[in-house]
Amino acid sequence: MFGRAPKKSDNTKYYEILGVSKSASQDDLKKAYRKAAIKNHPDKGGDPEKFKELAQAYEVLSDPDKREIYDQYGEDALKEGMGGGGGGHDPFDIFQSFFGGNPFGGAGSSRGRRQRRGEDVVHPLKVSLEDLYNGTSKKLSLSRNAICSKCKGKGSKSGASIKCSGCQGSGIKVSIRHLGPSMIQQMQHACNECKGTGETINDKDRCQQCKGEKVVQEKKVLEVIVEKGMQNGQKITFPGEADEAPDTVTGDIVFVLQQKEHPKFKRKGDDLFVEHTLYLTEALCGFQFILTHLDGRQLLIKSEPGEVIKPDQYKGINDEGMPMYQRSFMKGKLYIHFAVEFPDSLSPEQCKALEAVLPPRSSVQLTDMELDECEETTLHDVNIEEEMRRKQAQAQEAYDEDEDMPGGGAQRVQCAQQ
Ligand SMILES: [Zn+2]
Ligand SMILES: [Zn+2]
Repeated sequence: MFGRAPKKSDNTKYYEILGVSKSASQDDLKKAYRKAAIKNHPDKGGDPEKFKELAQAYEVLSDPDKREIYDQYGEDALKEGMGGGGGGHDPFDIFQSFFGGNPFGGAGSSRGRRQRRGEDVVHPLKVSLEDLYNGTSKKLSLSRNAICSKCKGKGSKSGASIKCSGCQGSGIKVSIRHLGPSMIQQMQHACNECKGTGETINDKDRCQQCKGEKVVQEKKVLEVIVEKGMQNGQKITFPGEADEAPDTVTGDIVFVLQQKEHPKFKRKGDDLFVEHTLYLTEALCGFQFILTHLDGRQLLIKSEPGEVIKPDQYKGINDEGMPMYQRSFMKGKLYIHFAVEFPDSLSPEQCKALEAVLPPRSSVQLTDMELDECEETTLHDVNIEEEMRRKQAQAQEAYDEDEDMPGGGAQRVQCAQQ
């Protein structure tokens, strides 16, 4: 790929946004950001885009490593280094970490303390088709992190914490790899010293209950209500029941229903399908059988007098399908798909008896002359799936042989052309 070195792109924009010169000191940058960020804060009626730009510019220029990259290669190099996203941090987080609280003095700020959102925890939940038909509830015991009750999530007895020296309290470390004379890769990762929290706790001050971890393991029993008519893949959410962490909005626990295969019934939407095999006599002369439904009811399934069922035919029963979700008084259809089992062979007497009652054979009698012109054939039994599988295997083998012989395939083509 040509031009691997980041192109010499605009590397003055950030300075212009903050209104400082390229030689501005860290102090100059701080002053400039403080003034502009307060003036442009959206809570004070400022332009959110401008506020975001300021935060981005300050985030880069206040970090000597990032500033060096920016000065040399411009904005694009930073974006590449940050894994393509290039979004940087939330401008409000940057503002927050700069002022360490609410610079507007509480009143007047509609936003308050912005919090991270914890991750959702997703669990599959196996259910039977009976469960989805009848509805059920399942009690599940889960263990999760809960904010330590003793230190209220501070991790320390006194409630004090010290800014981590490894990351200057940001929780993030940036490392730069030089990949070549004009190539650098910048990587961000959580600070290993403070596990990304940005703070450390004095050994003596550690909370005894959570050992300074701020959270403790907690057992929790959740009752999952599986409602009638719920679908495979449907989610049941318990908001705010995932792992707790300090300064974090707790994520959700989400159960995803996974329907187990049913030996008899298949479901498609609100409809149910059942396969049923009839003997030829039943298909021709009538049948009845009992089908036990998903709620245990015994359904009597029977043909109309004189009705003939053909192989592969479907019949439907209204209102015996799945209950509809949240309208469980309504139900889909139950379809029965019929197969017909024929006898393997018949004796001449049986044929004669059948011919006496069934419509006559349709095949016209062939004349001797017509028969003389024909060649005799023999029909033999085949298992068509087995035959097709064997043919495919043979083709694969031939192909593999060609692969094994270097140039084998090509040679063959050449020979054929000569
Ligand atoms: Zn740290
Ligand atoms: Zn504690």
